Amino acid sequence: MNIALIAHDKKKDDLIQFVSENKKVFSSHLLFATGTTGTRIMEATGLSIHRFQSGPLGGDQEIGARIARGEMDFVFFFRDPLTAQPHEPDVTALVRLCDVYSVPLATNLGTARVLINGILEEQGEGTAGE
Ligand code: PGA
Repeated sequence: MNIALIAHDKKKDDLIQFVSENKKVFSSHLLFATGTTGTRIMEATGLSIHRFQSGPLGGDQEIGARIARGEMDFVFFFRDPLTAQPHEPDVTALVRLCDVYSVPLATNLGTARVLINGILEEQGEGTAGE
């Protein structure tokens, strides 16, 4: 399956830790990310990730285009709700497209944990931590 990974700057450490903890699951899927998020996760985990532009430079829209083409199965998008983003319209558009196409979207760590268990169940491997 195709999985998109995006994190705003203050949430990048959270996403890196989450992907590291679940590296086995993520390593069995095709990973995509916005530029800086992808670079940081690759450096920290050694996973192979297709990187788009940085979010503020159009990366969110590139991932949105993949969603519109039916090419993205899950999105982990750790948003920072306490900092204004210069590309807020792109952020809103990406979240909207997930809703348009019913693509599962985790915007925080709590939902991400539930979603990763859903991915594991789809793989037929039980839930994380078991
Ligand atoms: P980045 O983009 O991974 O290039 O930092 C993320 C974002 O802010 O949308």
